[in-house]
Amino acid sequence: MDRKYRVGILGATGTVGQRFIQLLENHPQFELTALAASDRSQGKAYQEACAWRLPGEVPESVRSLPVEPPAPPLDCEIVFSSLPGEIARETEESFARAGYAVISNSSALRMDEDVPLLIPEVNHEHLALLDSQKSARGFGRGVVVTNPNCSTIMLALALAPLHARFQVEAVVATTLQALSGAGYPGVASLDITDNVLPFIGGEEEKIESETLKILGRFDGGRVEPAPFKVSAQCHRVAVSDGHMAAVRVKLAREAGPEEVREAFASFTSLPQELKLHTAPARPVVVRDERDRPQPRLDRDAGGGMSVTVGRIRRDSVLDYRFVALSHNTVRGAAGAAILNAELLAATGRI
Ligand code: NAP
Repeated sequence: MDRKYRVGILGATGTVGQRFIQLLENHPQFELTALAASDRSQGKAYQEACAWRLPGEVPESVRSLPVEPPAPPLDCEIVFSSLPGEIARETEESFARAGYAVISNSSALRMDEDVPLLIPEVNHEHLALLDSQKSARGFGRGVVVTNPNCSTIMLALALAPLHARFQVEAVVATTLQALSGAGYPGVASLDITDNVLPFIGGEEEKIESETLKILGRFDGGRVEPAPFKVSAQCHRVAVSDGHMAAVRVKLAREAGPEEVREAFASFTSLPQELKLHTAPARPVVVRDERDRPQPRLDRDAGGGMSVTVGRIRRDSVLDYRFVALSHNTVRGAAGAAILNAELLAATGRI
């Protein structure tokens, strides 16, 4: 960790953008030097452009940084993108073409064959896709790496230890997703008060396809999607932060409940070995109390970077059931992207 990288945020005034700013304050490797957002914010100092909605004050170091258009050149080497999906593809590609390392939260490029959909603990070997990305897209020094959808990260990280030991054969997941997952202002208060919404546009499809890419095998040239089916149903609930999923899995190999518990609890990977700054000591935290995990009590586990798993039991239809929970704007968005950038730096990819 001998040098500092200058980093910028696209979509810096939004829900995820603010979380980036909070998590990057005092980061040992990354110094925030550029901010960009829409033309509503451009030309203003950050503090003036942004309605800050996280606890505490806007960090001193960014208050007077100007908000710029999301187009190169920006005064940085790494660009964290939390732009709306509709404009992300073109903007992110233009930064990569101009030589920036683009670490994206947006869905636009996630499923492109040559773009790593990265969870450092789960599929760090997919970073080898960057070699073909460079030649196919003519990016030169630039790269694009994406992190999954916020619910997918939670599900794939929880499934990874089971898939490695017992081979997953089928997954059924029912999510209960927080309001902050919809950005600001998100869902109208009159729609969500005293209510649950059984529809989140595009979410079920993203979980079903992204999970298979993440848990897929890199065969030396491309990622072969994992050979099982995922079925997801998504619901918006009146929780501020913290997505939850009730999950059922079918496993190829027989496993006892203690083995399943141990697979979750003992799971660590490359980010923990490399002691990356944002990597939690335990990517999966197991709670044995009968009423955990809960969003308010468990979303900040591991600084918001751990997935908490509880209620692990045999299932009478598939093999096992459990409940997973994680912080959707930390492990599910900004924290995930920062960890991706730390891995790229540690492995000499940027
Ligand atoms: P948000 O709160 O609505 O913020 C959107 C950000 O994008 C704001 O900074 C906004 O700037 C900027 N923006 C909007 N239109 C723009 C344009 N035409 N040109 C340039 N900038 C523009 O949304 P969010 O929740 O942070 O989500 C951002 C992205 O991250 C989305 O792609 C979302 O799917 C993804 N994501 C979100 C979460 C989550 O938990 N919220 C998790 C994972 C991934 P102004 O303030 O100037 O309008």
